[in-house]
Amino acid sequence: MPSRRRTLLKVIILGDSGVGKTSLMNQYVNKKFSNQYKATIGADFLTKEVQFEDRLFTLQASPSDPENFPFVVLGNKIDVDGGNSRVVSEKKARAWCASKGNIPYFETSAKEGINVEEAFQVIAKDALKSGEEEEIYLPDTIDVGSSSQPRSSGCEC
Ligand code: GDP
Ligand code: MG
Repeated sequence: MPSRRRTLLKVIILGDSGVGKTSLMNQYVNKKFSNQYKATIGADFLTKEVQFEDRLFTLQASPSDPENFPFVVLGNKIDVDGGNSRVVSEKKARAWCASKGNIPYFETSAKEGINVEEAFQVIAKDALKSGEEEEIYLPDTIDVGSSSQPRSSGCEC
């Protein structure tokens, strides 16, 4: 099969252990959620193709220019306990994002798939604005299903 030209946008998900980074990625890419918790050793790498303004983009991990990296803040697990046991209020989170130069903020649930698609769309849009993208050649098919488990077998890199 011939390779097509795509644009690579690099996305990195940061946060404390257990906040749902792996789950958000898995919900977005594979539309799957598991209640089981298996700490990620090292990093998860998933690839997802998105279409935005008639162009194809590939989202992946690891920044090439951290200084100018666009951020989006996600408050995850909004499905839990009707919000009664949340640690950071929405007001406080929004105020913090506003004070940091209006970082886009989303309240998400990786479990229910709430705002996950929307948040990653903004990530793609902002990454595109920052000029971080690079043209790459990739094969037409990428298997995103088999790499959703942490790469914990043996090597911790
Ligand atoms: P990570 O350490 O940030 O990668 O966190 P994980 O994605 O491994 O998730 C940690 C735990 O929280 C797992 O048991 C998940 O099932 C659970 N979890 C993640 N996101 C959500 C969510 O949106 N809602 C609920 N109820 N649980 C979640
Ligand atoms: Mg993880």
